[in-house]
Amino acid sequence: MMTNRQLFQQFLAHTSPFPLALEIEKAEGVWLYGKDKKYLDLISGIGVSNVGHRHPKVVEAIKNQADKYLHLMVYGEYIQFPQVELAQLLAKSTDYKLDSVYLVNSGTEATEGALKLAKRHTGRSQLISARLAYHGATHGALSLSDSEQFTKSFAPLLPDVDFIEFNNLLDLEKITEKTAAVMVETIQGEAGVIVPKGDYLKHLKNRCLETGTLLILDEVQCGAGRTGTFWAYQQYDIVPDILTSAKGMGGGMPIGAFLAPQSIMKKLTFEPILGHITTFGGHPVSAAAAAECVKLLLDERCLKDVEVKGLRFENQLRHTSIKSIRRKGLMMAVELDNFENLFKVINYCI
Ligand code: PLP
Repeated sequence: MMTNRQLFQQFLAHTSPFPLALEIEKAEGVWLYGKDKKYLDLISGIGVSNVGHRHPKVVEAIKNQADKYLHLMVYGEYIQFPQVELAQLLAKSTDYKLDSVYLVNSGTEATEGALKLAKRHTGRSQLISARLAYHGATHGALSLSDSEQFTKSFAPLLPDVDFIEFNNLLDLEKITEKTAAVMVETIQGEAGVIVPKGDYLKHLKNRCLETGTLLILDEVQCGAGRTGTFWAYQQYDIVPDILTSAKGMGGGMPIGAFLAPQSIMKKLTFEPILGHITTFGGHPVSAAAAAECVKLLLDERCLKDVEVKGLRFENQLRHTSIKSIRRKGLMMAVELDNFENLFKVINYCI
């Protein structure tokens, strides 16, 4: 009989020739349990397990929802309580400034929806992204991701895309009346936790206001409490026009969302109708789990120690290879001295 490792090697498609290939039997809180080893999970499924693995409230919500119904209908047709509850909670998390929520399956789908909404709202085609950005793996999202290594084999990608350097005020001049949207991560994740400097995000927002461009903030990785506030943008005194989320908002279940004020979001309802459709977007079991996760994160007690915990971890991380550490709350990147290739920067999402 083949072992699980052999089955993994033979039948699963691989994303790289060197998968981590840890065999995990159970996960709970901050712990992953292998056959005869337990691991402190300092990567959290890449920024997903923000409330820990198998939080009891999340698991209970999943079980309760599984007893009622699973998939009923494509997104947006039937009134499903987990979806409406989640949408209301997400709107609340933005102080109702982004009060219309489109539920999808993943971060990359949230990017696609946000880009389509911006083009539809402005009637413009140009999209601007930031150097070193990552917004997902589908064609549209990949077009706004700045890594030749990941994009060159899939050309041509979307036309009319330009890049600005994150934190460079002079580059904001590239945003003009032709630009539909600028999409940036509030804190750049895959780039290795690059934090906006000073009033950079305010200047970016002002330039967007001057030119009638929509500002899309991608909080797929840095949102859902990871940096100490529900959304990272809440620490920078701005509000985006469109916000994308996924990963941590689901409490461990697959789900994503893009949020906007009603005035913008309603454009997706007409011309054409069904401008974005998704069969499983906001799946009721995922939505029920996400609603519990969002409730936990909205409770002040949950986020009050994020900075303290991040600092404690940063202070205890010691190794001769560590060149620098960049951190915001529990989002942290460690730059190593003597490693080449992909592992030069290790991201921790504790
Ligand atoms: N945006 C950011 C900032 C991300 O870090 C990621 C994934 O790592 C995505 C979008 C894509 O999310 P998903 O993998 O759920 O499609």
